[in-house]
Amino acid sequence: MQQQPSVIIIGAGVAGLAAAIRLAVAGYPVQVFEKNSYPGGKLSYFELDGYHFDAGPSLFTQPANIEALFELAGEPIHDYFQYRSMPVACRYFYEDGTKVVAYTNISQFAAEAEQMLGEPAANIAHYLKDASNLYNKVGTLFLNYSLHQPAVFFQKKIITALAAIRFKHLFKSLHQLNKQYFRQEKTAQLFNRYATYNGSNPYRAPGMLSVIPHLEMNEGTFYPEGGMIAITHALHHLALKKGVQFHFNAPVESIIHEDGRIKGIYSKGVPYMANLVVSNVDTYFTYRYLLKDEKTAAKIDRQERSSSALIFYWGIAKSFPELDLHNIFFSNNYAAEFAAIFNEKKLYPDPTVYINITAKCEPGIQAPADKENWFVMINVPAATGKDMAVMQQQARAAIINKLNRMLHTDIAPLIEAEAILDPVQIESITGSYKGALYGTSSNSKWAAFLRHPNFSKTIKGLYFVGGSVHPGGGIPLCLQSAKIMSGLAIPYLKKISTRDDR
Ligand code: FAD
Repeated sequence: MQQQPSVIIIGAGVAGLAAAIRLAVAGYPVQVFEKNSYPGGKLSYFELDGYHFDAGPSLFTQPANIEALFELAGEPIHDYFQYRSMPVACRYFYEDGTKVVAYTNISQFAAEAEQMLGEPAANIAHYLKDASNLYNKVGTLFLNYSLHQPAVFFQKKIITALAAIRFKHLFKSLHQLNKQYFRQEKTAQLFNRYATYNGSNPYRAPGMLSVIPHLEMNEGTFYPEGGMIAITHALHHLALKKGVQFHFNAPVESIIHEDGRIKGIYSKGVPYMANLVVSNVDTYFTYRYLLKDEKTAAKIDRQERSSSALIFYWGIAKSFPELDLHNIFFSNNYAAEFAAIFNEKKLYPDPTVYINITAKCEPGIQAPADKENWFVMINVPAATGKDMAVMQQQARAAIINKLNRMLHTDIAPLIEAEAILDPVQIESITGSYKGALYGTSSNSKWAAFLRHPNFSKTIKGLYFVGGSVHPGGGIPLCLQSAKIMSGLAIPYLKKISTRDDR
């Protein structure tokens, strides 16, 4: 009997793990090669002086994408992964003292916006209803299909989806669209922030991104028990259960292909043969180093990166009742902040500060009793070889000043543990080009169509998943990339399984 074709996945990021699960469940032998000693890529974790820190993502939406993997694998999710729905999506703080609680219950949030911002509740409801319609119609197209196969565009449901796209979704920026819906500048700013969920600039990214608040506000936000790292652990365990073989500390140096067909990879100088290779590595590095294709790498380099981040992980020797799991301290001039990040490519002197505190959900576990683990993040440009030490110093001072001012406190003496992550480190640890959090930016109306496809057009048997390819960055989209990829790769594996020359 002929052996099943074999699969190699390069990278154990969330998309690589999901890809491994999908192809193993389909019955193929799967090996994952990961350069780090642990799975998860950006979705990783560390402990410092009794404080627990999720290193990267902190916001968990659309758990259905994870449930789908367990369902597919026929495994009970609750044995691996538990999560709860959060009543509050985020607490917003403005420089003039205005505070808004973004409840995940829409009517409660609309009432809060009316009271705290002077925004008519009906405007919030109207915006989120339109966002929901847009998501339900166009999301089908974007999240479930490869946009790089012309046949897709002749399907009836796709034509219907495309017909739902309006002028304002493509030809107006998210900011212009938000201004059209909202009376108050502060409400527009709150909804502009959603562009940062895929590392984009709301003053340039298309109105289409108004689908993002739908996901947070209509569908809700969630907290995985044990923190975000629980997602990585759950997917890694599920992959092991399904027979996936992991090689850690195993960087891949090159992808082997011959006559336009995949043959395998080299890791630490040793060849490993496979019939199908899935790269979970940023496409720029996949082309530049793994395929030695400088021309395509240069083409990818011309596309604008999404923003990166500078993160301070602080162990705080106090509890702040006015804070929640997710908190935003807005800058006074949002337009100037995004101009600094994307046009001038520099640190904005008074950046918007995001603080995530998992000790709010698991007090005494995520941080010592009566203390808090602060994940303090600001958006910064994708790295361009700037001096990170200077940027770290300037940002730290700016953040502390801002928090002292807005929380009426003295933060510095409360910081009893500290670690820092900057764009250069993000690139070296996870292989994300320039430390971009979400691959390429969505700052142009065609960005959705310009992302790299989930398959190679020139090498048969080479596929792509992760934040730098279609449909984009962020955990839900990365998980979708694995679904789209497997929808294309499984028919290919079936086709070659009967051939001797594979
Ligand atoms: P990665 O996680 O980048 O994994 C790629 C893997 O490939 C890594 O493990 C890397 O070590 C490995 N690799 C690279 N090169 C090689 C090689 N040559 N050989 C072998 N292995 C290799 N998303 C959200 O949904 N919510 C959030 O709140 C959120 N916040 C974020 C905050 C930060 C600070 C960061 C960094 C990201 C955030 N994101 C968020 C984005 C999200 O983390 C990513 O989109 C997602 O985790 C990317 O997954 P991935 O599978 O594409 O790749």
